[in-house]
This record gives sequence, C-alpha cells and structure tokens, in this order.
Amino acid sequence: MQTELLPVNDESLSRAGELIRAGGLVAFPTETVYGLGANALDADAVRRIFEAKGRPGDNPLIVHISRVDQLSPLITGAPSPAARALMDACWPGPMTLIFPKSPAVPAEVTAGLDTVAVRFPVHPAARSLIEAARRPIAAPSANRSGRPSPTTAAHVLEDMDGRVPLILDGGACAVGLESTVIDVTGDTPRILRPGGVTPERIAEICGGVTVDDAVLRPLREGERPRSPGMKYRHYAPTGALTIVQGGADAVAGKIRMLYDAALAGGKSPLILALDGHIDAYGDRRCLSLGADAEAMARSMFARLRDADALGADAIFSEAIPTDGMGLAVMNRLERAAGFNILEADG
Ligand code: AMP
Ligand code: MG
Repeated sequence: MQTELLPVNDESLSRAGELIRAGGLVAFPTETVYGLGANALDADAVRRIFEAKGRPGDNPLIVHISRVDQLSPLITGAPSPAARALMDACWPGPMTLIFPKSPAVPAEVTAGLDTVAVRFPVHPAARSLIEAARRPIAAPSANRSGRPSPTTAAHVLEDMDGRVPLILDGGACAVGLESTVIDVTGDTPRILRPGGVTPERIAEICGGVTVDDAVLRPLREGERPRSPGMKYRHYAPTGALTIVQGGADAVAGKIRMLYDAALAGGKSPLILALDGHIDAYGDRRCLSLGADAEAMARSMFARLRDADALGADAIFSEAIPTDGMGLAVMNRLERAAGFNILEADG
C-alpha cells in the first residue's frame, strides 16, 4: 500500500472523509497525539486499525466526536451530573470519558467491554475530519503498538509507511501526550489514565476524583486493570531506559556515574534531562526534555524516538514531581522504562 502524506486543507479533508466512509484508515492530528482513525460504527474498518498497529484485540479504542449531540447514540442512559460538569468544562479537549455503551457501538471498538470511551477533541483538523466523515471516528494513537506515541506526521510515517493510505499533516501536537481517561459510570469520577487534563483540575470541577492506584505502579501478576491499555509495555524506545529520581544534585551525580559506567562498558549512553540541569552533565551526550512538566509532555515521545535514531542503548532520564501534568508524564515514562526506576538519594 502506498501511503500519502498531505497537509490539512479542504481537499485533503474531503478525501479523508470519503476514505473513512469507505471503511479505510486515516491518520490525523489531534491536540494530544496523532490518531489512527476509522468509522467507529463499522466493525470491519475498526479491525483494520488493530491490524495496522499490531494492537492486541483486548485493548479498546476511543471514539471521537465533533459535537456533543453525537454522544447519546453511543451510550446507554444519560451522563451523570459529574460527567456533565466535566463535559461542560473540558470538552472539546484532551479528556476521554467512559460511559455504558449503546448496542450501536461494535464490540471490536470496546474490546468486548460493556463501556465505551468517548472524546471530543479540540484540534480543528480532528473536528473537521469527523465532520467530513459524518461518522464518529474510533482512533488509538497512530504508532505501531508498543512504540512511543506520534506527536508529528513524520513519526506516524516512521511507523505506518505502507500500512495506511493517508496521513494528514497538521504539525506538532500541542499537548504531546494522550488524553485523561475518566470512568464516569460510578458516583465519583475515577482517573484510569492521567493525561492532558490534570487531576487537580478535575477535582476542582467535580468536587472529588479518585486516581486509580495502577497509574504509577506495575500491574500485579494476573491483575486485570480497569484501563486495559495499562497492561501492555508502552511508549518504549528500543534502547534500555532507566529513570533516576530524587533530589536534583543526587540525580545528576547518579546519572553521571551510570553514564560513565555504561560508556566504559562499551555502551552508547544518552541522558534525557530538564533544561535547567543540562549543564550538570558536562560534555556527556544529552537531550533536553524542556523546562517544565508541560514542555516535557510535548517533547518526551519525540526524545524517545530520537534516542532510537541516535542508536542509544543505555538511556538515563531524570524524573519529575507527579503533581499537575507531572503525573501523566511519569505514568508514560515509567511504562516506557518498564518500571526500571533508581533512587538517587541515600
Ligand atoms: P490509545 O488511544 O492508544 O491511547 O488507547 C486508548 C486507551 O483508552 C486504551 O488503552 C484503554 O486503556 C482506554 N480505554 C478505551 N476504552 C476503554 C473502556 N471502555 N474502559 C476503560 N478504558 C478504556
Ligand atoms: Mg496508544
């Protein structure tokens, strides 16, 4: 299959809409990461997403809408007051809500679950594509399964060349990591996956929120996570990634030591560090994660891909605090590292 990469304009959007209606796949930009979309109401089209990504069939997809009135045909019952409040405050935007599903949503989309994940993205190209398709669009991230999520059209091409007919190029993603997934089927909203909307913001809107305890730890043997995606090794570069956490000076000291030992052992090491810390690593090979948690969210997946492109086989990354956007950043980084985390203090 020949893959076309087109800028977002009226002509490419209308082509993309036709492709979706015909059961095909289109990769497209959103404010979180690039998505790989298909008609959410067509089981065969949805199956093609799993094939193209090499995605395990038990990992459900998010259904994207471009107007709130597209929600009710996808769900059973009315949204709870908390769900309403979240929709009013955060849609369109990087927030996904889990509702009881309606029979109209194929089991392929929800991986057999009786709930469905729905998001109303704010990115104009994503919204225009859904409008052009005149269908809700099921879309996971547009990477090969297990790879870092794509935040530019070039990343999508890297993973999907020859596997999808069309990639819409809308530049770099503004948030840079995936949406916050919130289960609103119970009394208190529960964050299953941290993302572009912070827990602090959600608590402010709803008065209360639970953060699923699987967010910052590996799953236990045989554990079935509430968010099926949590069970897979995710977001990972090819090189071995180690996270070092603790006070800034101790972290820099430990990473310098690990880097030098790796180099002496014939490895090709690389450091991922916040802007303010880069000087602490002298002339060691170092890539910037940006100045703060928001910048790190935007840059992290690209840096993990850069690490691969540089042939780094021993990657050492600084940790950041888990407040605000830091929770989503560390949730992805810890999975990318396979929970290989070292303590620098003491
Ligand atoms: P991706 O778009 O690749 O980030 O994947 C979407 C993620 O949303 C999956 O990995 C799931 O963990 C989560 N998700 C989708 N549908 C549901 C659902 N019905 N219940 C819980 N989590 C879901
Ligand atoms: Mg994904």
